[in-house]
Amino acid sequence: MRIGFIGLGIMGKPIAKNLRSAGYDLVVHDIVSQPVEELVQAGASKASSPREVAQHSDCLITMLPNSPEVEQVILGKNGVIEGINAGAIVVDMSSIAPLVSQKVAGRLKEKNVEMLDAPVSGGEPKAVDGTLAIMVGGSETAFKKVEPILLKVGASAIRCGEIGSGNVTKLANQIIVALNISAVSEAMVLATKAGVDPEKVFNAIKGGLAGSTVMNAKMPMILEGNFRPGFRIDLHIKDLQNALDTAHEIGVPVPLTGEVMEFMQALKVDGKEKDDHGGLIQFFEKLAGVQVRKQA
Ligand code: NAD
Repeated sequence: MRIGFIGLGIMGKPIAKNLRSAGYDLVVHDIVSQPVEELVQAGASKASSPREVAQHSDCLITMLPNSPEVEQVILGKNGVIEGINAGAIVVDMSSIAPLVSQKVAGRLKEKNVEMLDAPVSGGEPKAVDGTLAIMVGGSETAFKKVEPILLKVGASAIRCGEIGSGNVTKLANQIIVALNISAVSEAMVLATKAGVDPEKVFNAIKGGLAGSTVMNAKMPMILEGNFRPGFRIDLHIKDLQNALDTAHEIGVPVPLTGEVMEFMQALKVDGKEKDDHGGLIQFFEKLAGVQVRKQA
């Protein structure tokens, strides 16, 4: 099966490399040339437009920042839709608005092309290891055809429902992660200002009910004051905006998501939007005038 890949950023580049290592015939494209050349070195061929990628793909994967980029790359001028062959499958692994997944899939269907939305969780380390958690929306038939490909880059690929369900699942994931980081931040700022070593607090509670994958991933970074991304605050703002828009569109108030969105907006005003989302703690640290760091 020939695979096309568009969007070779923090996530897309290692995913594409893993597909190449698994032996797939790969054609790649990005508006930035450096990662394209890296993939060419690894044995992929390059194409000058999404349309050209589509002409050479049985399965075409996109890993782009957000809904507007996905719409442009797939439906825009020189886009995937102009070159794709009937019977091919498009797999969008970007985290975007579910309603946009449904719109793009509808247009592709007119060309007899099926689309799956298949956003991921796990960040760059799991993209590199090929152990991402992949949440998929779309038909069972299309899913079964591409499942072996997804399992080359993910530890799990779960079909959650029809098109858009993958991104609904991802929005749920992003709400839980953002709220969890906020809870850890508020609690650790309290402990630190109360005079208790936050590393001891972490070690004491991580095996109990308050423990979480989020706390295990973010506390070591917070204690070092290391907010190098990882997953940037500006991307998480994008996800929460998609969550708010989707929720309001279907009549679901999401008060906690709205509140965390404002913490992130405050950090953006402070010039910290390129920090890792673990840097959310800086909002709480500023309120209390204390820093949660490793103690000598
Ligand atoms: P990124 O900004 O590093 O990569 C996006 C890539 O898309 C870039 O290489 C960019 O040049 C390319 N691109 C943008 N517009 C394009 C166009 N018109 N044509 C061709 N290429 C184009 O972002 P990322 O961190 O790799 O994230 C990609 C998606 O995965 C996002 O939706 C993000 O929310 C999601 N995600 C990211 C992480 C993470 O930890 N970084 C984790 C899970 C999910």
